[in-house]
Amino acid sequence: MQIFDHTIAALSTPPGKGGVALIRISGRDARAVAERVFHAKSGKSVFALAPRCAVYGDVLFEGEAIDDVLLTVFPAPNSYTGEDTVEITCHGASPIVEAILSALFAAGAMPAAPGEFTRRAFVAGKLSLSEAEAIGELLDAKSLSGVKLFGRDSRHRLSVALSSLYEDVCHLLSSLLAVIDYPDEDLAELSEDEILVRLAEIEARGRRLLATYRTGSAVKDGIPTVLLGKPNTGKSTLYNLLCGREAAIVTEIAGTTRDILEATVPLGRVLLRLSDTAGVRESEDAVERIGVLRSKEAAERASLVFVLFDGARACDAEDEALLSFLDTLSGVKVALLNKSDLASAFDASVLEGHVSHVLPFSAKTGDTTALSALVDRLFTDDSLTIGEDAILFSPRAYAALLRGCEALSRAAEALRATGAVDAALMEAESALAAFAECDGKEVSEDVVSDIFKHFCVGK
Ligand code: GDP
Repeated sequence: MQIFDHTIAALSTPPGKGGVALIRISGRDARAVAERVFHAKSGKSVFALAPRCAVYGDVLFEGEAIDDVLLTVFPAPNSYTGEDTVEITCHGASPIVEAILSALFAAGAMPAAPGEFTRRAFVAGKLSLSEAEAIGELLDAKSLSGVKLFGRDSRHRLSVALSSLYEDVCHLLSSLLAVIDYPDEDLAELSEDEILVRLAEIEARGRRLLATYRTGSAVKDGIPTVLLGKPNTGKSTLYNLLCGREAAIVTEIAGTTRDILEATVPLGRVLLRLSDTAGVRESEDAVERIGVLRSKEAAERASLVFVLFDGARACDAEDEALLSFLDTLSGVKVALLNKSDLASAFDASVLEGHVSHVLPFSAKTGDTTALSALVDRLFTDDSLTIGEDAILFSPRAYAALLRGCEALSRAAEALRATGAVDAALMEAESALAAFAECDGKEVSEDVVSDIFKHFCVGK
């Protein structure tokens, strides 16, 4: 295990004005550093303070009390990082924070790198790599589903699921080795047939976990989504409704939206990476023509296309041209017969074969219940409970898990086809390495650095 020999300090709350700010110190000298800058009102030394109890006192900066604060000591190993940790809660003004940090640095602490507290927790074995990744994502969560996905229970379940795959392959390897070392003796714990059954069972478990990535990535990264439709069908009204604010200009004048507006918004359990487009239509206006071209490109990249029609009017030539364009797109196409609050005049049978779903909708009344249920059904696995089940969300872990499952499949194939125990052993070892990488049991320094560099300083 890597031992960090320096003590670090950083602001853990966002910089700027706030009611309070929290400064964290971690490392073997955390208490000694705090002792040099903190005077408890009780006169007690930091070394004599009860663990995990906030104590009132002053922080000294250049010999003077700069702020009255609360200080809490978390002795190793019962702290976030697993090291001795001290937290100082001071008043949330930037000059106070800067003065306290410079006092701590003068007292022997060093500035923490991005994610260094969490990295130390990982190295101390307090967190697996997938849990550390989830904590990084939690700070970036854009929806309540995201908070649940990266929350404690969910990240712990994922870590346990990945770890159990690793341990089961470890166990299987010893059975394979026994078959190789003592082929004629009855020492192997499992027969070749039993090994085959175990290989299939572990691979199936891995593949079930892989299948959860679709849901995890819809919650974490969102679904690239475009709004298409001829002018005045209600695209901008829907865009504003989904954004929860007046982000796009809504008028009765056709061609108001010229450039693409983009926003990431929650809908149901997932995020939509939403683009409101200028629409796709012939235009004499040079600016609008560029907008139309951009709309087409966005539509080609989208995984989900909401196509709006004015349900209060009959389908016209412009709608028909849009239907032919839809046929060139690969995303899931959902037709929204908008303005369902008005009398219907649109014959939905013309949509057949062009879109996969048709939904009457009113962007004006703003009820998105049916729309969000449909999107959830299309992009998530409804048997999964976000916040309870193990759900894969990291492309790094997905790639490693996939490699592991494929190696297990090749191991089974070698054993089944030719009884080649040596070849099966080699493949099972590759699977073990992939599963170890997945949860960070054995992972390169580059991968670890890449994960933590995306963290903020102070986490
Ligand atoms: P866009 O050109 O497709 O972006 O359409 P807008 O969002 O600008 O809407 C065009 C007009 O239709 C505006 O006057 C909206 O208020 C109106 N509109 C949009 N959605 C609805 C709806 O669901 N019902 C009704 N009655 N009017 C709507």
